[in-house]
Amino acid sequence: MKNLETLRSGARYAALPLTLTALAGCSEGQPKRPNILVMMTDDHTAQAMSCYGSLLVETPNLDRLAREGMLFENCYVSNAISGPSRACILTGKYSHVNGFTDNSRTFDGDQQTFPKLLHEAGYQTAMIGKWHLNSDPQGFDFWSILVGQGEYYAPQFIENGENRVEKGYVTDIITDKALSFLEHRDPSRPFAMLYYHKAPHRNWMPAQRHLGINDSRVYPEPFNLLDDYAGRGRAAREQAMEIGRDMWPEWDLKYQQYMKDYCAVIQAVDENVGRLLDYLEKIGELDNTIIVYTSDQGFFLGEHGWFDKRFMYEECQRTPLLVRYPPMVGAGTRSRALAMNIDLAPTFVDLAGLAVPDDMQGRSLRGVLASGGEAPEGWRTGVYYHYYEYPSWHSVKRHYGIRTADYKLIHFYNDVDEWEMYDLKRDPHEMR
Ligand code: CA
Repeated sequence: MKNLETLRSGARYAALPLTLTALAGCSEGQPKRPNILVMMTDDHTAQAMSCYGSLLVETPNLDRLAREGMLFENCYVSNAISGPSRACILTGKYSHVNGFTDNSRTFDGDQQTFPKLLHEAGYQTAMIGKWHLNSDPQGFDFWSILVGQGEYYAPQFIENGENRVEKGYVTDIITDKALSFLEHRDPSRPFAMLYYHKAPHRNWMPAQRHLGINDSRVYPEPFNLLDDYAGRGRAAREQAMEIGRDMWPEWDLKYQQYMKDYCAVIQAVDENVGRLLDYLEKIGELDNTIIVYTSDQGFFLGEHGWFDKRFMYEECQRTPLLVRYPPMVGAGTRSRALAMNIDLAPTFVDLAGLAVPDDMQGRSLRGVLASGGEAPEGWRTGVYYHYYEYPSWHSVKRHYGIRTADYKLIHFYNDVDEWEMYDLKRDPHEMR
């Protein structure tokens, strides 16, 4: 219980001198530093997690994280697209500061990131899975990343600089690599592992064992699947991401087929999350590991007739966030505090006992986690958003905006100059 009490006292823990003895992690008389496991998926929206109330798919292992930890109801990304969101998470900074504004960019890997700070402080660091930042990872003892978006079957990896093709299914392979890293680590030091899946990014190819598993299922359609965009501006009308018009033309029942495949690839993610949790439990590290589950952003599952993301509308601006860490986080807690993806970097640095650098723009979630989900005094009252990638895939116009607890204001610009404002209490689905 001594370690537990010490960890609960954040101030005392953060104030520990960073001597070499402390850096060793678990020397006599020193608190054991927590491991950090960041589980991230690509395009996995909260509407497809049973712990968020989804009726589309069962995710028992993710539900376990929620049941034994905290579920954030209001976590938002600052730019709902892959590379930019990943850069925000690594740096704790908005896109205009970290420089990776859209997927055509190359991440400046020389800048400060949370894995580098943890590595310098003695953590063993690993990056496994989808990276999608165009430059090589820095600050990791081990890295094995998918090439570009990655493939579901026989995916190509770059592993510590070497190209290789792996046999099998991508979600299983990424987990095999994660387990191998854990098995071969130095157990006297804490680890920080980024476990980043390709799934459920399109083209939604299920594992062989999951082929056909959802064939008899009929999915409920969102009420606004056939949205006519009457209450919105040009950006909503002129996009190119409608299931009926822009999705695979050979599908007849497109929404039903989309849900069958999307949910099947999530079932493989959930199974593999279970494999990792079981392993951590077996080696006795489960409760000493800060386990985070999130996605690089949310996704449309037919709402407004759409697939894909990019818009500052709830379905994709919001992202799932679960945190399991029993020494600090109460089981089955839920938070309504406005959290952001840029908060993850300062949170990890803070919980590792390091000072959060002044130039990180996100805020440590320690106070929220330690208080059962309450926003501490002086917490943010709005979240900023900015999407830059236009003209490009799906033709979503450039826009920026702010969301508070009750309202959302968006400005679409570039080849248009229009504002949208939503009253989220009266119009939570953003129809007017
Ligand atoms: Ca994504």
